[in-house]
Formats: sequence, structure tokens, C-alpha cells
Amino acid sequence: MAEKKYVVAIDQGTTSSRCMVFKKDGTPVVSDQMEHAQIFPKPGWVEHDALEIWHRVEDVVKGALKKGNISTDDIASIGITNQRETTVIWEKATGKPIYNAIVWQCMRTQDFCAEWQKTPGWQQDAAGQGKVKEHTGLLISPYFSGTKIKWILDNVPGSRERAAKGELLFGNIDTWLIWNLTGGANGGVHVTDVSNASRTLLMNIKTLKWDEEMAKFLNVPIAILPAIKPSSAVYGNTIPNGPFGASIPVAGDLGDQQAALFGQACFNKGDTKNTYGTGCFMLMNIGEVPVSSKNGLLTTAGYSLDEGKCTYALEGSIAVTGSAVQWLRDNLKIVDESPDSEHFANKVDDAGGIYFVPAFSGLYAPYWDMTARGIIVGLTRYIRKEHIIRATLESICYQTRDVVEAMNKDSGVPLAELKVDGGAVKNNLLMRLQADILGAKVVRPVVNETTALGAAYAAGLAVGFWKNIDDLRANWAKDAEFTNSISDAKREEGYKGWKKAVDKSRGWVD
Ligand code: ADP
Repeated sequence: MAEKKYVVAIDQGTTSSRCMVFKKDGTPVVSDQMEHAQIFPKPGWVEHDALEIWHRVEDVVKGALKKGNISTDDIASIGITNQRETTVIWEKATGKPIYNAIVWQCMRTQDFCAEWQKTPGWQQDAAGQGKVKEHTGLLISPYFSGTKIKWILDNVPGSRERAAKGELLFGNIDTWLIWNLTGGANGGVHVTDVSNASRTLLMNIKTLKWDEEMAKFLNVPIAILPAIKPSSAVYGNTIPNGPFGASIPVAGDLGDQQAALFGQACFNKGDTKNTYGTGCFMLMNIGEVPVSSKNGLLTTAGYSLDEGKCTYALEGSIAVTGSAVQWLRDNLKIVDESPDSEHFANKVDDAGGIYFVPAFSGLYAPYWDMTARGIIVGLTRYIRKEHIIRATLESICYQTRDVVEAMNKDSGVPLAELKVDGGAVKNNLLMRLQADILGAKVVRPVVNETTALGAAYAAGLAVGFWKNIDDLRANWAKDAEFTNSISDAKREEGYKGWKKAVDKSRGWVD
């Protein structure tokens, strides 16, 4: 058989679905992308139509293959990466979802979580320590899938009985897509990988198996859950009458942030990446022991290359980073486009003594303080819009520093180098400020599409397209490197001011 030329990644995100085709050197050949509807039935509720997502995935697969004139004979395998935590329950016999997909951002289970937090035996302290963390590495929060599954089974009439009879299946979007790609109601495989399963509140972070105590508390029948597999393994083959029009192994599955970790070749303990999008997600490889964070971070499955084995990660998520730049653009209208922030911020030497804490929806890691709200402090008559823009870029870097401080404390090793990716890393000033504020090296890869690349890597490894992770390491190429240019004293003085500003932002709402 002729040597295969490509691996395909399907990147199913919160606002759009993308299909990217990669060559053996890890560079993209072609991609296609389509958005899907965001459904807001009530304030704080967010849903997607899972069938629409599947159809958009079919469209972008066909679109990418057509645009790139890719022959399916040349495709070695397919990898999936997905918006995490988003919850779908569907009928096994028909493939029809019984309710819209409940999106990770959806807050509908907040009241349940507040009650849960008060339940004897389940209380967690301010740092998130408690039974949920011990079992799952996570926190009591509407963010994760567990309470969303419970909500659907509690609210869709007859669904509990149908689940008990084995008529229903649950999946995050990875599971939903793999089931459909491999045949759906006609023999589709019902699987997930450890990285996605570790975001459900239902997987035991140590055993990598569904956790009976968690499932019992959340009243979720284990029978509806998918089989937990490694992130790199042949799960099944696509059906010839699906979007690929051929039988190709589906062989990689990683949640989006873990896929970026993998695509950045963060294979060694201590390797860390930060993705700069609307929010920031930092993940640090912590090796094969699921160290529990004492400093406000989540412990999550990073990736698994072999059954029963797992490389773990600490994760710190920041809610508002690139979206603070969008706020300058859309609400204050002081920049026309997000990239203009670099031009204006470069016109001043510093932020003129002000700090902007963009706690628009509270503060996430490491504070987890939902009472905080956004503030700009230190204003004087001297301050111009350029200072506010510069303070916005600095806020992205300072929030990242907060997470790095927590990671340093948990891991006991100071971060030396941060690999970066995501839409905002094209901003060179932002990257320079980040190196200064961290006092660490910041490195940007040539291929910024690390999420899709990570899924492709997982899929390619499983079928021997790449032999081992050394092949992947060799593919990683640097685009630019940013190093610290300020004194320790100046850095620490700046950070002290930031901490003071964060304190002022906290406790604003009850
Ligand atoms: P996501 O995947 O979270 O939707 P992207 O990775 O596409 O986001 O990044 C887009 C975000 O990055 C937006 O919030 C935008 O404001 C911000 N952004 C994009 N380019 C720049 C830039 N040059 N400087 C600062 N912020 C930017």
C-alpha cells in the first residue's frame, strides 16, 4: 500500500467547527470552517443543536477535502478535538438528541451546585479542597458535564426510565462525533478519551474509570456513559456513506486544551503552554501522578497513549483576556480592531500607573471569586486611552502570572519557559510584556493551530504515521522567542500593584 500523506483533524469548538489536513512535518495543507448557532433560552443558559454541529462537521470535512483536492486514499487517520464539557444525550436507536446540547458556559445548574456545596460530606474549602477534588481533580461547578447530565435526566420526561432501559447514550461532543462518524445508529462506537472524561465530574482521576460514588450522587446511570479509551488509539473506522466517503480509522481524541498541550509537544514534566484566545487556558504537564492543587488549579488528564496510563496536567483558566480587548473595541470603541491594541499600547512607555482588572464575570483561577467585578484603578488626569489599552494587555499578562505563581507553588519548580498559542499571540508587544511580567522565556511556534495539530498527532501516532513522540518533538519549530528585559525589582513592584488592584476588585457583588 502506498504511504499515506495526511492526517485529518476535526476541531469542534464553541462557536465553529473546523477540519484541517496536516502533512507529516506537522504543517497544515488546507482547512475549512463553519459556525453554528448559539442558543440562549434564558439569561445564563447556553445551548447548541447537536445535530446542527454534526451537519457542520460533515460540511467542513467535505469542504476541506474538496478545497485541498485530498484523496481519501492518502489519509492515514482522523483525530477529534472538541469544546469540552458540553453535554449531549441521544437515542441509541435513532441518533436523535433528546435535548439540545448544554454548553460548558451554561449556568443552569448553579443553584444545584450551591446546594451540593452545603451537603454534609461534600463541602469544599475556599481553595476548592474537598471530596469532589479528591475524586475528580475538579471543583463543584456548573462548568463540568456531571450536573448538566443530571439536569437533562431530571427535566426531560421519561428520560430516566429510558436511560435505565439502555435506550439513551451520553457524550461530550467528541463522543457524539465519533459515534456518528463510525455509523451512528448502525453500529457507531460509543467512546471517549481520558482528557474529555476528566471534565465530566464522573471520572476518578486516579483510576481513570467512571467513579461510582460521583455517579451515584449525581444520579447518572453508568450504563449511558461511553467507554474511556486512551487519547491515541483506533476507536473505529468511518463509514463509507459518511462525510469522508471512505473507511478511515478514527484514532485520536483530545479535549481542546489538552490537544493544544499535545500539539505544543509539551511531553516532559514541567512543560507548559498558554493559549491566548477570548480567555486564557494554561496547562502544565505534571507527569504520571495526579498532584492535587492547593492553589486554586484543576487537576486534569492531559493525554493517554496507552490503556491505563495517563500524563496529567494542572490547569488554570482565566475568563477574560482577549475578550477585554474586544471590550475596548466594541464597548469603549477606542480601537477599531483587536490587533490595533499593539499600535496604541506601543505609543506609551507604560500604563501610567493604572491597572485594569477585567473581572467582568468574577475571577477564575486561581481566585475562583465570583464576587469580583472589573475595575480600573490609579486613574489620574495624566491617563490617556493609550494607557488604558496598554493596561489591558498587561492585565492579560498579570492574570497569567497569577496562574503561573499557583503552578510554581503546586509543582515546586519555577517556570522557565512558556509556550504560547491562540489568536492574540500575534501581538508582539503582548508577548514582550508577558516575558517581562513572568521573568521567563515566552516562545511562539510556527504552527499556531496547536489544538487541531494535537488531535492530528494523537491520531497519527495510533496508526504509525508518526513513530513516536520524538517525531512530534522534531516537528515543533519556533517562530519567535521573547525574553525578560526588566529588573527583578521592577517586575516585583509592578506585580505588587497588580495584587493590590485585584484585592480592590473583590467582594464588589454579594
Ligand atoms: P477563541 O478561540 O477563544 O475564540 P482566538 O484564539 O481566535 O479566540 O483569539 C481571539 C481573541 O484574541 C479575541 O478575543 C481578540 O480580541 C484577541 N486578539 C486577536 N488578535 C489580537 C491582537 N493582535 N492583540 C490583542 N488581542 C488580540
